[in-house]
Amino acid sequence: MNELFASLCVRKLDVPVLNPPQQLPLFLSSSFSFDRIEEGVDIFTGKQEGYVYSRYGNPTIEAVTRRLEAMEGFGLDMDIQGYLTSSGMSAIHLILVSLLGQGDKVLTQANLYGGTTELLTRVMSGLGVETVFSNLNDLEQIESQLKSDPAIRVIYLETPTNPTLSCLDLKAITDLAHQYQIKTVVDNTFCTPYLQRPFAYGADFVIHSTTKYLNGHGTGIAGLVLGKDKSFMKDRFWTVLKLTGATCNPFDAWLVANGIRTLPLRMDRHSANASLLASSLADHSGVDQVNYPGLASHPSHSLASRQMSGFGGMLSFSVSGGQATAFRVMNQLKLASMAPTLGDVDTLVLHPATSSHLRIPKAIREEQGITDGLIRVSVGLEDAKDLITDFHAALDCALVEK
Ligand SMILES: *Cc1c(COP(=O)(O)O)cnc(C)c1O
Repeated sequence: MNELFASLCVRKLDVPVLNPPQQLPLFLSSSFSFDRIEEGVDIFTGKQEGYVYSRYGNPTIEAVTRRLEAMEGFGLDMDIQGYLTSSGMSAIHLILVSLLGQGDKVLTQANLYGGTTELLTRVMSGLGVETVFSNLNDLEQIESQLKSDPAIRVIYLETPTNPTLSCLDLKAITDLAHQYQIKTVVDNTFCTPYLQRPFAYGADFVIHSTTKYLNGHGTGIAGLVLGKDKSFMKDRFWTVLKLTGATCNPFDAWLVANGIRTLPLRMDRHSANASLLASSLADHSGVDQVNYPGLASHPSHSLASRQMSGFGGMLSFSVSGGQATAFRVMNQLKLASMAPTLGDVDTLVLHPATSSHLRIPKAIREEQGITDGLIRVSVGLEDAKDLITDFHAALDCALVEK
């Protein structure tokens, strides 16, 4: 009796799906079964499509991936292949490892996301992949580096950059790269495909930390790699992904599916709020500088206007009085939280000099505009008037305290 009971408990459950669920089901299954062994063999050998094991593929993850491919390739006549990964960092690691080996070099900018700089200098270097830092706004410098160093195989870039929001010319850089048979990888996390589609400007690969705007609610960590060379993605990239096991989990993928359904609404509101907050901060006497590509005074304004369909939700500003004043402003804010992420629905502030850019020597940091008085803001979806009032009150208070 008890033996039969145990078998009953253990036996797999059948799901009688008579008509489709209205929302994406979450398939929490590590493996998939076959009715007949022949079917299993056909799926394993690629003769028949099907699922085997969730590290290789999972229906929830694939549904979200297909949508993300369509978004990044929107309006472009391209067949894009994507894969969700366990984090933005694993997305970057996987594409670099798939493209590069011992003796190859990456050309990139100095003002990358901090984790990416460390990945290049502390992990990729150990695999014999060297990083060459350059000013990617200087096309002549890039060309002379490519000409003189045939070991450079990849140009890796971010636009706009963190936290000064300076932009790089995607078309000019990818055109140059292709003259030298070099692949380009673009981190599109800050923009999302709603605001900028790097494939339209010739990029070969696009990566995302979906942790940020694509999830949009700060509830999960995941990454995404997309490529327009479908056979490279399905063969080399997928092999590296499945064998290193940096796969996304179905729940984080499901959270991204939820996030992207409101992406256009959120990005419009993030951009509108950031634009209003940026102009109002520029008018405050205690603010030295505001970095927001939507401001006509920003050095990348005309490039951003061409390349992006909106200016996004990220800005930074520096206060006169340096770190002490910046800390007072941050501690005074009522609506903004201090958290080291971005792209959530609520406004977040961060002090780059003592967090994301802590390990960068002060002289180099300041050369990039990351001064001790700089505050980065991921502008949320609150009412813009409330945000402006809060930031101005915090600034007034911090300046009086001084
Ligand atoms: C957060 C972030 C990453 C890293 O992503 P994780 O999901 O934290 O691993 C990479 N690039 C940019 C621009 C980011 O903001």
